[in-house]
Amino acid sequence: MRKKALTIAALCIVAVGLTACGHEHVWKEATCLAPRTCSECGQTEGEAADHQWVDATCEKAKYCEVCGKEEGKPSDHEWIDATYTAPKTCSLCGLTEGEPLAEPYYLKNELTFDRLTDMELPFAIGFSDGEKLVKIEGMWIETGSASFTFGEITSQPSTKEGYIDIIIPWETNLSAEIYDASDGGGGYKVNYTFPSFAIGDCYTGLQIPERSSYNDDVVEYGKDFEWEGNTYSVSYKKEVNLEKISTEWELQSEKLWHKPWRSKVSTTYTVTIPKDYDGATLVISKNGSAEVSFESSVDKTIEDKEQYLLDGHDKDEYFFYRVSDLIK
Ligand SMILES: [Zn+2]
Ligand SMILES: [Zn+2]
Ligand SMILES: [Zn+2]
Repeated sequence: MRKKALTIAALCIVAVGLTACGHEHVWKEATCLAPRTCSECGQTEGEAADHQWVDATCEKAKYCEVCGKEEGKPSDHEWIDATYTAPKTCSLCGLTEGEPLAEPYYLKNELTFDRLTDMELPFAIGFSDGEKLVKIEGMWIETGSASFTFGEITSQPSTKEGYIDIIIPWETNLSAEIYDASDGGGGYKVNYTFPSFAIGDCYTGLQIPERSSYNDDVVEYGKDFEWEGNTYSVSYKKEVNLEKISTEWELQSEKLWHKPWRSKVSTTYTVTIPKDYDGATLVISKNGSAEVSFESSVDKTIEDKEQYLLDGHDKDEYFFYRVSDLIK
């Protein structure tokens, strides 16, 4: 009952307002839709105001926040280049395109490239029967080192269009000392194994498959590396020339004979790479060869298995050289 009485009172007040004359205008400020207008009588003054523009973004064109009018086109995206963890991304709207970059193997594994210099590495040598190491009563070998001396590295256009040949010559001088304290002075044979270079690709981390080469003077190796939609063919030709240096037995002391053992190996790698390709990588084991390998007498076939530069080894066990840097 009381509520109804209130409603009637409210209606009376409204009625009084409407019928009043000579009122004071109640101005509503001009907008882009209408000029300054009295909210009581609808009278207007002046002209409509300017639009209230909101700048264009990459998602929406410039627009008036009052009337919604649009002008022009959305702005361009502000692209941030793809990284190894994120694809190409717009810094404004977060839109992405494509995939994150593939991280090169050498970065992922933090491999660093060395400058090629002459070096000495361990090698392995021992008496053998041709198939395995043997002991000879009263005789022993003191292993020296394999000393690597690099010649001038040159490059020339390859016969293969768009490729260059990089020629890397080096000499390996091997030394050991053979002692004989036996009375026999019988025959003996030695087998030895010294480090050779492997070649791979630092982007994919794959290696050109190795195979025995000791039975031939010239062997060619090669592999296609796929990276970021491109194929890079890397191949190399290996020429090895072994030269045994003859030495004489010397009487060291009573009943102890000594014979220096010296061998010179001249090796030339001709590495064929696409011009402007910096992925080809020479790899050499810092530890040299610790064991005499007899695999060389067996004709190994190239395995299809993909082999990576490290494959269970630590990066500190190797020297890495970028082939393309060797000629700069
Ligand atoms: Zn008015
Ligand atoms: Zn407007
Ligand atoms: Zn955007």
